[in-house]
Amino acid sequence: MAGPVTRFAPSPTGPLHLGHAFSALTVWDRAQGGAALLRIEDMDQSRARPEWEAQIYDDLAWLGLDWPRPVMRQSDRSTAYDVALATLAPFTYPCRCTRADIRAALSAPQEGAMGPDGLIYPGTCRHRTWDEAGPDDATRLDMGRAMAAVASLSFVETGMNAGEHRFDARHMIRQVGDVILARRGMGAAYHLAVVVDDAAQGVTEAVRGADLAEATPIHVLLARLLDLPPVAFHHHRLIRDDHGRRLAKRDDARAIATFRAEGATPADIRRMVGL
Ligand code: GLU
Repeated sequence: MAGPVTRFAPSPTGPLHLGHAFSALTVWDRAQGGAALLRIEDMDQSRARPEWEAQIYDDLAWLGLDWPRPVMRQSDRSTAYDVALATLAPFTYPCRCTRADIRAALSAPQEGAMGPDGLIYPGTCRHRTWDEAGPDDATRLDMGRAMAAVASLSFVETGMNAGEHRFDARHMIRQVGDVILARRGMGAAYHLAVVVDDAAQGVTEAVRGADLAEATPIHVLLARLLDLPPVAFHHHRLIRDDHGRRLAKRDDARAIATFRAEGATPADIRRMVGL
Protein backbone atom coordinates (compact mmCIF):
# COMPACT_ATOMS: atom_id res chain seq x y z
CA MET A 1 0.00 0.00 0.00
CA ALA A 2 1.26 3.50 -0.79
CA GLY A 3 2.30 5.77 2.09
CA PRO A 4 0.31 8.79 3.20
CA VAL A 5 0.03 12.11 1.42
CA THR A 6 1.12 14.70 3.98
CA ARG A 7 1.61 18.45 3.81
CA PHE A 8 3.54 21.26 5.40
CA ALA A 9 1.45 24.45 5.49
CA PRO A 10 3.47 27.41 6.78
CA SER A 11 2.27 31.01 6.80
CA PRO A 12 4.81 33.39 5.23
CA THR A 13 4.59 35.89 8.08
CA GLY A 14 8.09 35.50 9.53
CA PRO A 15 11.18 33.31 9.50
CA LEU A 16 10.84 29.55 9.94
CA HIS A 17 12.26 28.58 13.33
CA LEU A 18 13.26 25.29 14.95
CA GLY A 19 9.60 24.42 15.60
CA HIS A 20 8.86 24.69 11.87
CA ALA A 21 11.98 22.65 11.07
CA PHE A 22 10.75 19.87 13.36
CA SER A 23 7.28 20.05 11.81
CA ALA A 24 8.60 19.98 8.23
CA LEU A 25 11.02 17.11 8.94
CA THR A 26 8.16 15.15 10.55
CA VAL A 27 5.92 15.82 7.53
CA TRP A 28 8.58 14.45 5.16
CA ASP A 29 9.49 11.53 7.44
CA ARG A 30 5.82 10.47 7.67
CA ALA A 31 5.43 10.58 3.88
CA GLN A 32 7.74 7.59 3.24
CA GLY A 33 6.28 5.76 0.24
CA GLY A 34 3.68 8.53 -0.21
CA ALA A 35 4.14 12.23 -0.93
CA ALA A 36 4.92 15.37 1.08
CA LEU A 37 3.27 18.51 -0.29
CA LEU A 38 3.81 22.17 0.47
CA ARG A 39 1.06 24.77 0.86
CA ILE A 40 1.61 28.46 1.51
CA GLU A 41 -1.05 29.76 3.92
CA ASP A 42 -0.90 33.39 2.87
CA MET A 43 -4.54 34.20 3.48
CA ASP A 44 -3.72 37.02 5.85
CA GLN A 45 -2.52 39.44 3.18
CA SER A 46 -1.80 42.12 5.77
CA ARG A 47 0.97 39.93 7.28
CA ALA A 48 2.14 37.66 4.43
CA ARG A 49 5.31 38.84 2.64
CA PRO A 50 6.92 37.51 -0.57
CA GLU A 51 10.35 37.63 1.08
CA TRP A 52 9.18 35.28 3.85
CA GLU A 53 7.76 32.93 1.23
CA ALA A 54 11.11 32.94 -0.61
CA GLN A 55 12.90 32.24 2.68
CA ILE A 56 10.59 29.25 3.33
CA TYR A 57 11.55 27.65 -0.02
CA ASP A 58 15.22 28.35 0.65
CA ASP A 59 15.22 26.94 4.21
CA LEU A 60 13.28 23.80 3.24
CA ALA A 61 15.58 23.09 0.28
CA TRP A 62 18.59 23.61 2.57
CA LEU A 63 17.11 21.04 4.99
CA GLY A 64 17.19 18.59 2.05
CA LEU A 65 13.43 18.57 1.45
CA ASP A 66 11.76 18.61 -1.97
CA TRP A 67 8.14 19.03 -3.02
CA PRO A 68 5.97 18.97 -6.17
CA ARG A 69 5.42 22.25 -8.03
CA PRO A 70 3.40 24.37 -8.49
CA VAL A 71 2.90 25.04 -4.78
CA MET A 72 -0.66 25.71 -3.63
CA ARG A 73 -1.13 29.21 -2.23
CA GLN A 74 -4.26 30.16 -0.33
CA SER A 75 -4.36 33.60 -1.91
CA ASP A 76 -5.24 31.84 -5.23
CA ARG A 77 -8.07 29.81 -3.74
CA SER A 78 -10.93 32.20 -3.01
CA THR A 79 -13.27 30.62 -5.60
CA ALA A 80 -12.96 27.19 -3.94
CA TYR A 81 -13.64 28.74 -0.52
CA ASP A 82 -16.72 30.59 -1.87
CA VAL A 83 -18.11 27.33 -3.27
CA ALA A 84 -17.60 25.63 0.11
CA LEU A 85 -19.26 28.54 1.95
CA ALA A 86 -22.28 28.29 -0.37
CA THR A 87 -22.52 24.54 0.33
CA LEU A 88 -22.39 25.23 4.07
CA ALA A 89 -25.04 27.99 3.94
CA PRO A 90 -27.75 25.80 5.58
CA PHE A 91 -25.49 25.57 8.63
CA THR A 92 -24.28 29.18 8.83
CA TYR A 93 -25.63 32.60 9.75
CA PRO A 94 -24.44 36.19 9.33
CA CYS A 95 -22.87 37.65 12.47
CA ARG A 96 -22.36 41.36 13.05
CA CYS A 97 -20.90 41.18 16.57
CA THR A 98 -17.68 43.00 17.31
CA ARG A 99 -15.23 41.63 19.88
CA ALA A 100 -16.59 44.21 22.33
CA ASP A 101 -20.17 43.00 21.72
CA ILE A 102 -19.08 39.43 22.49
CA ARG A 103 -17.28 40.45 25.68
CA ALA A 104 -20.31 42.45 26.82
CA ALA A 105 -22.68 39.52 26.16
CA LEU A 106 -20.37 37.27 28.19
CA SER A 107 -20.04 39.56 31.19
CA ALA A 108 -21.98 37.25 33.54
CA PRO A 109 -19.43 35.46 35.74
CA GLN A 110 -20.45 31.93 34.75
CA GLU A 111 -19.94 32.77 31.06
CA GLY A 112 -16.75 33.22 29.12
CA ALA A 113 -15.47 29.69 28.45
CA MET A 114 -12.53 29.52 26.03
CA GLY A 115 -12.65 27.45 22.84
CA PRO A 116 -10.03 26.91 20.09
CA ASP A 117 -10.57 30.48 18.81
CA GLY A 118 -10.85 32.22 22.17
CA LEU A 119 -14.11 33.12 23.89
CA ILE A 120 -16.95 30.79 22.92
CA TYR A 121 -19.51 32.82 20.98
CA PRO A 122 -22.68 33.51 23.02
CA GLY A 123 -25.02 33.03 20.03
CA THR A 124 -26.30 36.62 19.81
CA CYS A 125 -26.78 36.52 15.99
CA ARG A 126 -27.80 32.85 15.69
CA HIS A 127 -31.42 33.70 14.85
CA ARG A 128 -30.39 35.89 11.87
CA THR A 129 -30.90 34.69 8.29
CA TRP A 130 -28.87 35.43 5.18
CA ASP A 131 -31.67 37.74 3.92
CA GLU A 132 -30.82 40.06 6.80
CA ALA A 133 -27.03 40.01 6.21
CA GLY A 134 -25.21 43.33 6.23
CA PRO A 135 -22.16 44.08 4.07
CA ASP A 136 -19.66 43.62 6.91
CA ASP A 137 -21.15 40.52 8.53
CA ALA A 138 -18.99 37.49 9.24
CA THR A 139 -20.10 33.90 8.51
CA ARG A 140 -20.54 31.73 11.59
CA LEU A 141 -21.19 28.01 11.81
CA ASP A 142 -24.28 27.11 13.86
CA MET A 143 -22.65 24.26 15.78
CA GLY A 144 -25.92 22.80 17.05
CA ARG A 145 -27.42 22.62 13.56
CA ALA A 146 -24.19 21.26 12.06
CA MET A 147 -23.83 18.51 14.67
CA ALA A 148 -27.48 17.51 14.25
CA ALA A 149 -26.66 16.80 10.59
CA VAL A 150 -23.73 14.45 11.25
CA ALA A 151 -24.83 12.52 14.39
CA SER A 152 -21.27 11.78 15.56
CA LEU A 153 -17.71 12.73 14.66
CA SER A 154 -14.49 10.76 14.75
CA PHE A 155 -10.99 10.81 13.32
CA VAL A 156 -7.86 8.67 13.47
CA GLU A 157 -4.85 10.14 15.26
CA THR A 158 -1.46 8.69 14.32
CA GLY A 159 0.68 10.99 16.48
CA MET A 160 0.27 12.02 20.12
CA ASN A 161 -2.57 10.09 21.85
CA ALA A 162 -2.78 7.73 18.85
CA GLY A 163 -6.12 6.03 18.25
CA GLU A 164 -9.65 6.90 17.24
CA HIS A 165 -11.01 10.12 18.74
CA ARG A 166 -14.76 10.80 19.01
CA PHE A 167 -16.70 13.97 19.67
CA ASP A 168 -20.38 14.40 20.41
CA ALA A 169 -22.70 17.37 19.94
CA ARG A 170 -22.51 18.31 23.61
CA HIS A 171 -18.70 18.65 23.43
CA MET A 172 -18.79 20.62 20.18
CA ILE A 173 -21.49 23.05 21.39
CA ARG A 174 -19.98 23.62 24.84
CA GLN A 175 -16.24 23.44 24.15
CA VAL A 176 -16.05 24.80 20.59
CA GLY A 177 -19.19 26.77 19.77
CA ASP A 178 -20.17 28.75 16.68
CA VAL A 179 -16.82 29.36 15.00
CA ILE A 180 -16.17 31.93 12.26
CA LEU A 181 -15.84 30.50 8.74
CA ALA A 182 -15.32 33.75 6.83
CA ARG A 183 -14.91 37.45 7.41
CA ARG A 184 -16.10 40.05 4.96
CA GLY A 185 -13.22 41.57 3.08
CA MET A 186 -10.82 38.94 4.43
CA GLY A 187 -12.30 35.81 2.87
CA ALA A 188 -12.30 32.32 4.34
CA ALA A 189 -11.07 31.75 7.86
CA TYR A 190 -8.31 29.23 8.61
CA HIS A 191 -10.72 26.41 9.59
CA LEU A 192 -12.51 26.45 6.25
CA ALA A 193 -9.43 27.01 4.08
CA VAL A 194 -7.43 24.18 5.62
CA VAL A 195 -10.23 21.64 5.08
CA VAL A 196 -10.95 22.68 1.49
CA ASP A 197 -7.23 22.73 0.65
CA ASP A 198 -6.36 19.39 2.27
CA ALA A 199 -9.10 17.77 0.16
CA ALA A 200 -8.02 19.57 -3.03
CA GLN A 201 -4.42 18.40 -2.50
CA GLY A 202 -5.49 14.81 -1.79
CA VAL A 203 -3.95 14.92 1.70
CA THR A 204 -4.57 11.71 3.65
CA GLU A 205 -2.66 12.60 6.83
CA ALA A 206 -2.43 16.16 8.19
CA VAL A 207 0.83 16.43 10.18
CA ARG A 208 1.02 19.48 12.45
CA GLY A 209 1.78 20.73 15.95
CA ALA A 210 -0.19 19.71 19.04
CA ASP A 211 -1.27 23.37 19.39
CA LEU A 212 -3.73 22.76 16.55
CA ALA A 213 -5.25 19.58 18.02
CA GLU A 214 -8.05 21.58 19.63
CA ALA A 215 -9.17 22.75 16.18
CA THR A 216 -9.17 19.28 14.64
CA PRO A 217 -12.80 18.35 15.52
CA ILE A 218 -13.88 21.54 13.67
CA HIS A 219 -11.95 20.40 10.60
CA VAL A 220 -13.38 16.88 10.78
CA LEU A 221 -16.89 18.35 11.05
CA LEU A 222 -16.43 20.70 8.08
CA ALA A 223 -15.07 17.85 5.95
CA ARG A 224 -18.17 15.79 6.81
CA LEU A 225 -20.58 18.64 6.02
CA LEU A 226 -18.77 19.21 2.70
CA ASP A 227 -18.75 15.47 1.92
CA LEU A 228 -14.94 15.38 1.62
CA PRO A 229 -12.83 12.25 2.19
CA PRO A 230 -11.71 11.67 5.80
CA VAL A 231 -8.18 12.76 6.75
CA ALA A 232 -6.05 11.19 9.50
CA PHE A 233 -4.21 13.59 11.81
CA HIS A 234 -0.71 13.37 13.23
CA HIS A 235 -0.20 15.94 15.98
CA HIS A 236 3.43 16.24 17.06
CA ARG A 237 5.10 17.66 20.15
CA LEU A 238 6.05 21.34 20.18
CA ILE A 239 9.60 22.65 20.32
CA ARG A 240 9.99 24.95 23.31
CA ASP A 241 12.57 27.53 24.32
CA ASP A 242 14.68 27.31 27.48
CA HIS A 243 11.75 28.76 29.47
CA GLY A 244 9.35 26.10 28.21
CA ARG A 245 7.54 28.55 25.94
CA ARG A 246 6.41 27.55 22.47
CA LEU A 247 8.57 29.18 19.79
CA ALA A 248 6.97 32.05 17.89
CA LYS A 249 7.75 33.83 14.64
CA ARG A 250 9.34 36.68 16.57
CA ASP A 251 11.98 34.31 18.02
CA ASP A 252 14.56 35.31 15.44
CA ALA A 253 17.29 33.76 17.60
CA ARG A 254 15.75 30.34 16.84
CA ALA A 255 15.28 31.05 13.12
CA ILE A 256 16.68 28.40 10.79
CA ALA A 257 18.31 31.26 8.86
CA THR A 258 20.20 32.33 12.00
CA PHE A 259 21.58 28.82 12.59
CA ARG A 260 22.51 28.60 8.90
CA ALA A 261 24.36 31.90 9.10
CA GLU A 262 26.24 30.58 12.12
CA GLY A 263 27.40 27.53 10.13
CA ALA A 264 25.00 24.84 11.39
CA THR A 265 24.34 21.86 9.09
CA PRO A 266 20.94 20.25 8.41
CA ALA A 267 22.11 17.33 10.61
CA ASP A 268 22.71 19.83 13.46
CA ILE A 269 19.12 21.08 13.09
CA ARG A 270 17.79 17.51 13.25
CA ARG A 271 19.76 16.93 16.42
CA MET A 272 18.58 20.21 17.99
CA VAL A 273 14.93 19.19 17.57
CA GLY A 274 15.54 15.66 18.85
CA LEU A 275 15.37 13.71 15.59
N1 GLU B 1 -0.62 27.52 8.65
C1 GLU B 1 -0.62 26.93 9.93
C2 GLU B 1 0.59 27.41 10.73
O1 GLU B 1 1.43 28.11 10.21
C3 GLU B 1 -0.63 25.40 9.90
C4 GLU B 1 -1.94 24.84 9.49
C5 GLU B 1 -2.04 23.32 9.54
O2 GLU B 1 -1.01 22.62 9.53
O3 GLU B 1 -3.16 22.83 9.55
O4 GLU B 1 0.71 27.12 11.91
